[in-house]
Amino acid sequence: MKDLKDKILSEGDVLPGGVLKVGSFLNQQIDTVFLKKIGEEIRSLFADSGAEKILTVESSGIAIAVAAGMAMDLPVVFAKKSKTSNVSGEIYTSLVHSFTHGTDNHIMVSKEYLPSGLKILIVDDFLAHGSALNGLIAIAEDAGCEVVGCCSVIEKGFQLGGDNLRARGYRIESLAIIDEMTDSDIIFR
Ligand code: 5GP
Repeated sequence: MKDLKDKILSEGDVLPGGVLKVGSFLNQQIDTVFLKKIGEEIRSLFADSGAEKILTVESSGIAIAVAAGMAMDLPVVFAKKSKTSNVSGEIYTSLVHSFTHGTDNHIMVSKEYLPSGLKILIVDDFLAHGSALNGLIAIAEDAGCEVVGCCSVIEKGFQLGGDNLRARGYRIESLAIIDEMTDSDIIFR
């Protein structure tokens, strides 16, 4: 997605440890006009997928999943990172290592929102080592759902999570794939 590459080049900040900061348009602050285009791009990639529900993980995946859900007329469910009083009843859970926080979280989804047999599209903001997508895939498959695809907005190809999932046969699409990034340069695949 050319607009996304341009925005990463003009507004992205490469932080130490292989982290790309895109707080000005995708994370802390959200460019809603641009977010709408992201939703439409995800729809055009997955229009043929048969997806019936979109699954993501809080918090930065939610806006993107909702943009895609609105473009595709699909409901969105998000995995929570902590058990709050409004998570009741039985849950599916999976352990996810957070790349940016350096912590391990049990992510969870109430069983009532993932009935078996559904076709699921998984969406997130970043794909790095793949822990978040692996955790979401595990939850969807535990529920007896079919993962028809996964879409990240920005994949850091040098961290290999995407290529490992593709090698396992999953359909993984990313709106921009970064193969190399340094303080002074970002190279896209
Ligand atoms: P993974 O689980 O694939 O290693 O990392 C993906 C998750 O970590 C995403 O949900 C995203 O929130 C966060 N993340 C990973 N790399 C980056 C990055 O470079 N920048 C930002 N802002 N978030 C990242």
